[in-house]
Amino acid sequence: MRSKPDEAFDRLLSKAVEFHGHLGPYLAIGLRMGLLAKALLGANGMNGLSVALETGQTPPVSCVADGVQVSTLCTLGKGNIRIEGSGKVKGRFEANGMAVEIELKGRAEDMVRELLIKGYSTKAVEAVKALSDLDLFEVHRYRRAAGPIHAGTHSR
Ligand SMILES: [Zn+2]
Repeated sequence: MRSKPDEAFDRLLSKAVEFHGHLGPYLAIGLRMGLLAKALLGANGMNGLSVALETGQTPPVSCVADGVQVSTLCTLGKGNIRIEGSGKVKGRFEANGMAVEIELKGRAEDMVRELLIKGYSTKAVEAVKALSDLDLFEVHRYRRAAGPIHAGTHSR
């Protein structure tokens, strides 16, 4: 059995809600993205981690950005997070000469959207918490941190 990841996540979620102003599934998704990126890169936001998100600036999808800021400590103020694109729950995280791209899977996004449309925001948050990283995200790893987020390096 794993040790209680839920408690640690809930504490972080409370912190994120305080920062963001309300609880929603995209905030929780952002937290999960940031935590996964840090685990994959062995990094934290005070130590060379940088992020480029494709969420754009329109809620609810852009709420992801605040979850990522809270979980990675990459912040607008420190200049190590960039927010571009529009409406795509995808981010590129770089640290330690490595990069990972993490994107919300279509199935997970459809589920979240459907619950939100029906007004079940809390249920959507619970669903995000319950899914494994594998069910939530598509992950691509790269050896070297290079180029802008759209640069398709041919070293697959
Ligand atoms: Zn929000």
